[in-house]
Amino acid sequence: MRCPFCGNIDTQVKDSRPAEDHVAIRRRRFCPACGGRFTTYERVQLRDLVVIKSNGRREDFDRDKLERSIRIALQKRPVDPERMDQMISGIVRRLESMGETDIPSKVIGEIVMEALARIDTVAYVRFASVYKNFQAADDFDKFVSELRPPAAAEE
Ligand SMILES: [Zn+2]
Repeated sequence: MRCPFCGNIDTQVKDSRPAEDHVAIRRRRFCPACGGRFTTYERVQLRDLVVIKSNGRREDFDRDKLERSIRIALQKRPVDPERMDQMISGIVRRLESMGETDIPSKVIGEIVMEALARIDTVAYVRFASVYKNFQAADDFDKFVSELRPPAAAEE
């Protein structure tokens, strides 16, 4: 696994343990070249999902992108990161079990709203208010860039 800090390929696994109720393996990695430490997650990939945007374009489903939008909606909210990870895994499992590999972005947005509504009302309102505009817009990148809480400061 390539070091995200210096690009060195020869990194070491320091620790591996189950995460997200055994849905993932979390590995702590160390880069001997620069001393950098980072974490990777190993997950079962059931199927390759494709997102159909409202303009009809297709794009590979990107879990990181989904996670980014949810992370922004939950910024500064009292939600445990482990709980957020579980929620994201739950969303992905739901998408994977829908029986279709092609999923409209609208459906994904609705599933995310449902999940957020269950864990944090403020995050739900943030996401939903941007989502209303998003239905008129045509891509998820724009959606993510619009999804900023008013007091967005540090990461
Ligand atoms: Zn490095």
